[in-house]
Amino acid sequence: MKLMKSLRLRWKMLVVVLPLVLIPLIVVGGIVSYTSVDLARQGINKASMDDLEHMAAFTRHLLESHHQQFQVYQKERKDDFITDLKTLAKIAENMVAAEQRLVENGEITLKVAQQRVRKQLKQVNIGETGYLYALTSDGTLQVHVAREQENILNEQDGDGRFFIRQMVETAKATEPGELNLIRYPWRNEALGDTLFREKLAAYLYFPQWDWVIAAAGYISESYTDMMFEQQALNDLKEKIKQKKVGLTGYIFCMNSKGTFTIHPQDEGQNFIDIRDRSGHEFIREMCEKKQGWIRYPWGDEGAARMKIVRYEYFEPWDWIVAVGCYEDEFYEAANTISWNSAKLTLAVTLLTSLICVLLVSYASKVFTDPIREMIRVIRRVKKGHLDEQMDIDSNDELGELAHTFNRMTEIITQNQEMQASLAQHGKMASLGVLSSGVAHEINNPLGVILGYAGYIENKIGEKDPNYHYIHEIKRESKRCRKIVQDLLSYARTPQSVLEKTDINALLDQIVDFAANHTDMHHVTIVKNLSPGLPELNIDGDQMRQVAINLILNAGGAIKDHGRLEVETRRDNEDILIIFRDSGVGIEQEILERIFEPFFTTKEKGTGLGLAISKQIIEQHHGSIHMTSTPGVGTTVTVRLPQDSEEYLL
Ligand code: ADP
Ligand code: MG
Repeated sequence: MKLMKSLRLRWKMLVVVLPLVLIPLIVVGGIVSYTSVDLARQGINKASMDDLEHMAAFTRHLLESHHQQFQVYQKERKDDFITDLKTLAKIAENMVAAEQRLVENGEITLKVAQQRVRKQLKQVNIGETGYLYALTSDGTLQVHVAREQENILNEQDGDGRFFIRQMVETAKATEPGELNLIRYPWRNEALGDTLFREKLAAYLYFPQWDWVIAAAGYISESYTDMMFEQQALNDLKEKIKQKKVGLTGYIFCMNSKGTFTIHPQDEGQNFIDIRDRSGHEFIREMCEKKQGWIRYPWGDEGAARMKIVRYEYFEPWDWIVAVGCYEDEFYEAANTISWNSAKLTLAVTLLTSLICVLLVSYASKVFTDPIREMIRVIRRVKKGHLDEQMDIDSNDELGELAHTFNRMTEIITQNQEMQASLAQHGKMASLGVLSSGVAHEINNPLGVILGYAGYIENKIGEKDPNYHYIHEIKRESKRCRKIVQDLLSYARTPQSVLEKTDINALLDQIVDFAANHTDMHHVTIVKNLSPGLPELNIDGDQMRQVAINLILNAGGAIKDHGRLEVETRRDNEDILIIFRDSGVGIEQEILERIFEPFFTTKEKGTGLGLAISKQIIEQHHGSIHMTSTPGVGTTVTVRLPQDSEEYLL
C-alpha cells in the first residue's frame, strides 16, 4: 500500500490495469489450450485406435490372401495327384495284363504271375507313404505293403463309411480298365498317425483275376509344394514381423491355444498362462474372446505402461491376429501439440501484455499530461505569474478543473487590480483633503497679493522701470490661483447637477469657443457630430470643462499645424465622444500614467486636466479611454451611458 502510494500515476494505472487484462487472458488461454489438448488427445487416441484396427484387419487380409492362394495350389496339386494316381493305377493294370498274357501263352503259371506282380507293385511309392494295393472282390488283400491276405471288406474310413465295399462295388460295376476315384479320411495306425488325413485312391477292376487294383496316397504329401508354401509363409511372417506399430509396437499371431505363430522374438512359445502386471491372464482372454480390444499394464521394470491391443480371429487357420502398442506412444503427438499450444498461449500473453503496457502508457500519458501541465501552471502562478493560463482543451473533469483554475487566477488578478486602484483612490482622497486645506490657506493670501499687485500696476504706469516686475508678480499669482482652483475642483469633487442636455449643441458651442483660444490657432477643428442623438442627463458645466481640457491637450500636442476631429456617435446604449488629433502622440510608458494627478510632461502644466476629466466622467458613470501612436496622433474616447440618472443616487 505504501509502495502504491509512492508510485507515479502511470505506474499505478499499469499495476491496476495489467492484471485486469492478463488474468482473464491467462485463464481463457489456459482453458482453451487445455481443451484443445484434450480434444487432440481424444482425436489422436481415436486415430491411433483406428490405425490398430486397420493394421489388424490388414494383417488378417494378408493371411487370407496367402491362404486363398494356397487353396488354389492345393487344388492344382490335388489334380496333379489324381492324374498321378490314375497313371499309376493304369501302369499297375498294364503290368497285371502283361503277366496275364504270359499265363495265357503258357509261359508261366497264374500263381507265378501273381507273385511277380505282387513284387513289382509293392516297389512303387506314392508320395511319402502312398502305395499300390490290390484285393479280390471278397475283400482279401492280394497286394499290400503290410497286410497281405487280410480281409478288409468291412474296413471303415474316418467318416465311418464302408469304403472298401464301395470300392469293390463301383469297380465291378464299371467297364474293365475304367478308372474310379475315391476319397476317404484315413489314419494309418501302423505308421503312427494320430489324425485322419485325406487319402485319395484311383482304382480299376481286372476281371480275369477278380482283382481291384488301387493306387492310393495322402493328398498332403507332395514334397515340393510343401516347400513352396512354407517359403511363402515364411516370407509373409517376415513381412508381418517387420511392420512397426507406433514407436515400439508390433504385430503378432498365435493359435487359439496361445502358442505364438508369428512373433518378433517369442515365436513357437506358448503364453496361455502369462499374466500382466495386474495379474490378469490376458493371452487366455484373447484366446477365448478371439476378437476385440484389450488393455493391460505391461513392462519389465519401473512403472507399468498401458498397452493396447486390437485382435482379430482368422478362422481358416484358427489363428488370432493381434496388433498392439504402448498407449503413451499415441500421446507423443498430443504432447507435442500441448507443448506447442502452451508456447502459443505464452507468446500471445506476452504480446498482449506488451500491447497492454503500451496502451496503458499511452492512456496514462493522455491523463497525466494535462495534470503535469496544470502543475507547471500552478507553480508559475505561485511565483506570481498570474497571467499564466491552463491551456487544456477537453470537456472532461480535467478541462473543467483547468477552466475553474483559470477563472480563479482571473479573479485574483481582478482583486489585485482592485486593491491597487483602491490604494490609488485612497491616495487621491487624502491628497484631495490635504490640497483643499492648503488651497484654502493659499487662496486668501493670493487674493491679497493679486489685489495689491493690480493696485500698484495701475498706480505706476507702464513706463515705470518696476512695472515689469509687478506685471510678472500678477501673472505668476494668477497661475497660482489657477492651480489652486484646479486643485480645489479636483479635491472637492463637486456633486454633478444633472440636466437634460443636447450633447451635440454643447460640443458645437465649446469647439467654437476653443477655436478662438490662442493655443488653438494652428489647429483645424473638424466637427463630425451625429444628428438625432438623445439628450443626455449630464452636468453641462462639468462636461464643458472636460471638453476644454481634451481640446487644449490636443492643441498642446500639435506642434506646427494639425487637425482635431470631434466626433459623436451612438454605440448601442452608449454615446461616444471622440477627440482624434494628429499630434505628437504618447509613448506607452507615459500613456499608462497620464490620468495620475500632477502627471505632466509640460513645463507649465498642472497635470490635473486629465485627472479631473476622468473624475467627472466617472461621476457620470462613463469611462474615458486613450489610445495613441507616437508620431501619428492620439484618440480620446469618452463613453457616456444614455441614461446616467439611474446610476446617480
Ligand atoms: P497638463 O495638460 O497640465 O500637462 P493633463 O492631465 O491635461 O495635464 O495632461 C497630462 C499629460 O498628458 C500632458 O502633459 C501630456 O503629456 C499628455 N497629453 C494629454 N493629452 C494629450 C494629447 N492629446 N496628445 C499628446 N499628449 C497628451
Ligand atoms: Mg491639460
